[in-house]
Amino acid sequence: MKILIILAHPEEKSFNAAMFNTAISILEKEGHEVKTTDLYQENYQPVSGKGNFTRLKNTDYFKQQDEEVFALQQSTFMPDIISEQEKVEWCDMMIWQFPLYWFSVPAILKGWIDKVFTMGKFYDNGKIFGNGFSVGKKAMLSLTTGGPEKNYVDAKYGDIQSILFPIHRGILEFLGFSVVEPEVVYSVERLSEAEREIVLGNWSKRLINIEEEISQRTTEQTGLK
Ligand code: FAD
Repeated sequence: MKILIILAHPEEKSFNAAMFNTAISILEKEGHEVKTTDLYQENYQPVSGKGNFTRLKNTDYFKQQDEEVFALQQSTFMPDIISEQEKVEWCDMMIWQFPLYWFSVPAILKGWIDKVFTMGKFYDNGKIFGNGFSVGKKAMLSLTTGGPEKNYVDAKYGDIQSILFPIHRGILEFLGFSVVEPEVVYSVERLSEAEREIVLGNWSKRLINIEEEISQRTTEQTGLK
């Protein structure tokens, strides 16, 4: 498979970076082609707006989606947007590796989403969900939390699938991706060194079998069509 992995963590010695590096090395060893974007390392500029474009269609009133459609016709996207879009179009599967921030993705990854998934290219009138441009591609969230697992299964925080629903349904499935069961490492800072080694070992084992897992178990996480 062609696999794109996006990392959103500012520290290269972090556990998220270890998950990211493990994924690259295991997937390449298994014969997959891997491309990556390390957002902080690349000093990715996440603020989406007029700066997404080299030239605007309407300089009096900025409407991002109108400018996106214009940019597709006139090739006026900034180069950083084009290079990330090309990676998404290239891949069969995308993995986002991130720490959960405020029950969501870190802002740098949200900015990447806002900039990269442009109207006309990744979604359009009627080109969503089962008719989306990314139908046939897979996507998996791989995340760590500060909070313990028990808080994500009872009513305290809400269950993790509900927390991830806006990302699974509102972004990935909306675009046509099939969502693969997320990899969630709870309370990673409170694990012992040995427990973290086991987590990385289990992540490696899962990735070794990822193609088989996908062929057997790919489901729409949300259960909606
Ligand atoms: P790190 O602190 O980098 O790593 C944990 C430990 O693993 C460290 O001791 C590190 O040295 C060690 N380690 C690194 N590499 C390896 C390796 N190869 N093998 C073994 N050990 C290794 N949490 C929630 O639950 N819900 C929230 O909504 C939430 N919101 C947040 C919002 C913000 C703005 C912030 C800053 C944090 C938030 N958190 C939240 C907490 C956050 O999700 C966790 O701090 C984060 O997931 C921990 O992951 P990390 O990669 O940063 O861990």
